Amino acid sequence: MPMIESHGSAIARVLVLGGTTEASQLAAALAAAQIDAIFSYAGRTDSPLAQPLPTRVGGFGGVEGLCTWLAQQRITHVVDATHPFAAQMSCNAVAACATTGTPLLALERPAWQAQPGDRWQLVLDMVGAARALPEAPARIFLAIGRQHVAPFLDSTNHWFLLRLVDACVALPAQRGHIVLARGPFNEAADTALLRAHRITHVVAKNSGGSGAEAKLRAARALGLRVILIQRPSIPPRPSVSHVDAVLRWLAGAHDDAAANAERGV
Ligand code: NAP
Repeated sequence: MPMIESHGSAIARVLVLGGTTEASQLAAALAAAQIDAIFSYAGRTDSPLAQPLPTRVGGFGGVEGLCTWLAQQRITHVVDATHPFAAQMSCNAVAACATTGTPLLALERPAWQAQPGDRWQLVLDMVGAARALPEAPARIFLAIGRQHVAPFLDSTNHWFLLRLVDACVALPAQRGHIVLARGPFNEAADTALLRAHRITHVVAKNSGGSGAEAKLRAARALGLRVILIQRPSIPPRPSVSHVDAVLRWLAGAHDDAAANAERGV
């Protein structure tokens, strides 16, 4: 397998922390460039997308476990391409890479910005989102993933539309409806979905990216209120938003200043 130079040392092995469209794009690019890399999934879904890289599934066991794993696998570079809301994994990666002296780069999507016609209410977290819902029964598209659905169901009397990858949440028929689908989604289909279920409010995370933005475009078109959960904070780390920039970083073709210039986007 060919070696490429990065920061003056040969790349032996890249760890890609995955679970996003961008991580899959990076995996394809690394495989095409014949760069030795391992792809890592948390193992949240029953049928994760197959990757063109050797793939491992499951947690590492916190910061300590990740430090051990990086050393055992002789990982020389880590690319954190997890979802912007996967804060625990990202914090662990920052700590483990600092401890082991492993170069770390985040591949993250720019956050969505409000456009004319948007009726967004920004909230800090899930608790804030639940509090922002109206008192009167409403029909909510709860687009936040399966992990945080229970508190909304337990503490409110709204009707909920859920869109999930796996049928893993029990939802009584009178409390809502589950659509099984995997993105990317498009505006026309999401507009039809919101109309068909007479949705009044959308609750979403500010994930960024194009495939998940369709629901916000649809809400804008229909004039619906959107309760948008802001991204969790993650310790400072070099960050880029395009796969090409990761390849340049791995090749040592840009310096730290270029990575810093993209931080926080
Ligand atoms: P999280 O809360 O940040 O992570 C919890 C724990 O799961 C981590 O401490 C780690 O366990 C393990 N983990 C997370 N990502 C991993 C990865 N790529 N490889 C190996 N272990 C991983 O993460 P989350 O929010 O549950 O998200 C889990 C996965 O789903 C991530 O890969 C993320 O990219 C993807 N995803 C998340 C969201 C979201 O909204 N959160 C949306 C779409 C996709 P250990 O401490 O044992 O190492």
